[in-house]
Amino acid sequence: MPGHKIKLLKKETVAKGTMAFHFEKPAEFVFVPGQYADLAIINPKETDREGNIRTFTIASAPGEKDLVFATRMRDTAFKRELDRMPEGTAIEMDGPYGSFTLHAKKEKPAVFIAGGIGITPFMSILTSAAEEKLNRKFFLFYSNRTENDAAFLRELSGLTAEIPDFTFVPIMSEREGYLNEKTIRKYVENIDGPIYYLAGPPGMVAAMRKMLAGMDIPEDDIRFEEFAGY
Ligand SMILES: Cc1cc2nc3c(=O)[nH]c(=O)nc-3n(C[C@H](O)[C@H](O)[C@H](O)COP(=O)(O)OP(=O)(O)OC[C@H]3O[C@@H](n4cnc5c(N)ncnc54)[C@H](O)[C@@H]3O)c2cc1C
Repeated sequence: MPGHKIKLLKKETVAKGTMAFHFEKPAEFVFVPGQYADLAIINPKETDREGNIRTFTIASAPGEKDLVFATRMRDTAFKRELDRMPEGTAIEMDGPYGSFTLHAKKEKPAVFIAGGIGITPFMSILTSAAEEKLNRKFFLFYSNRTENDAAFLRELSGLTAEIPDFTFVPIMSEREGYLNEKTIRKYVENIDGPIYYLAGPPGMVAAMRKMLAGMDIPEDDIRFEEFAGY
């Protein structure tokens, strides 16, 4: 297994109850935006039924200096350990894994649908698209309860100026309700053309898959990553 010991550089709050953890990136570590890694706490003071390993998507882009992971800080042993971890502490990382990465056919637009912390793969893909000035069409529908719950809102708005063709649609469910077919049709002119990417809690992913199936989007054009554990 491709294992690395990586050191915590800094932690920051990026939304209500949500933190980003910056780690040192090993020189030889290569990943594709959208991939994830397994993080293991070394010698934890406490652990629980789920153990001392969790899976997190890499939220930073390959061109960035640090490796960044972002998570909702719930009251579990693993997250309590992360919360009190001093800077400079090493953890074990296995990865990268996964194929939730951008499709090869450049002419096909990408429609990203994120629920809450499901934004992490799209942060990596879009930051990388900005760095590389990718001449491709992107849409992002990003659902949260309120603005306070939405991680990386400012960064994502900033990316609209850096990516040549990027439509960003934040949705605050407390005010507007859940993302629906009407909103997708309002922004995506030809709904049959794109590849759709869904990421977030399993319940949200299931609801969005059902909605897209109801819109007759071919199954082959829908990719999803379920953040099991939410
Ligand atoms: C590919 C992938 C990428 C992910 N990326 C991120 C990310 O970027 N950020 C992020 O915050 N989270 C991500 N997750 C989810 C993450 O791994 C944790 O499960 C989540 O953060 C909850 O952890 P916890 O310690 O709060 O709760 P946990 O203690 O892990 O679990 C809470 C509850 O969920 C149940 N549960 C745990 N694991 C599973 C499972 N595999 N299937 C079904 N039920 C389960 C437990 O039994 C428990 O009831 C990702 C998951 C996957 C699979």
